[in-house]
Amino acid sequence: MTVIDDIPERAMVVFAHPDDAEIGAGAVAARWVKQGCEVTFVLCTNGGSGSGDLSMESQRLIDLRRQEQHDAAKVLGVARVVCLDFPDGGLEDDRDFRGAVVRVIRMYRPHTVLTHDPYRMKGFQHRDHRMTGIVTTDAVFPYARDHLHYPDQIRVEGLKPHRVRRLLYWGADEPDVVVDISDTLELQIEALYKHASQVFGLTDTGRDAAARVRERAAEAARGQNFKYGAAYRQLLARE
Ligand SMILES: [Zn+2]
Repeated sequence: MTVIDDIPERAMVVFAHPDDAEIGAGAVAARWVKQGCEVTFVLCTNGGSGSGDLSMESQRLIDLRRQEQHDAAKVLGVARVVCLDFPDGGLEDDRDFRGAVVRVIRMYRPHTVLTHDPYRMKGFQHRDHRMTGIVTTDAVFPYARDHLHYPDQIRVEGLKPHRVRRLLYWGADEPDVVVDISDTLELQIEALYKHASQVFGLTDTGRDAAARVRERAAEAARGQNFKYGAAYRQLLARE
């Protein structure tokens, strides 16, 4: 595993539901923010379907989870959370969703983008995660980069094309890079606890979830000279 130790000037985390960013990239975001990186969170859905509580109504859940997401981002030091507000469970690999991701990339101009690995074969994966991974990959290359894609964003909205240098996928079957998150893993766990409507919160389930996060991070750091790591599959843009 190659260790990533540069700190990009700007990074973006594109994720399907409230809490996915914390699970996939919380500690990395916190570490990079501390070291001067401008991190943007892009939440693709409104989170309106993520509840096992039969008395929960969708709109109440949407409001609750939006607040939880903002509270979690605050713990990590992430100042900007963009909500694309697509329906939970309703993401499609279509022109609309792709255009929305292209727009935020052109607006906030990240060097590095982190997202779900859409090509994970081992185990079930939420359809929204797969759609987010595929659409973000396509948005990075070639759509955000080439001015003749979504030309109205350039001509009418005044945005400029943007070339992302690095894509990092969490949840990959075969990760090939790792980031040292020893100093910020506990912030990631604290941020996860802000998603109290989900399995986290300071319950036994929450404590189990925290233990699993630490276990996975220790596993990713195996053979390295640091305690906790976050592992990703990396794609680099050609020069
Ligand atoms: Zn999710």
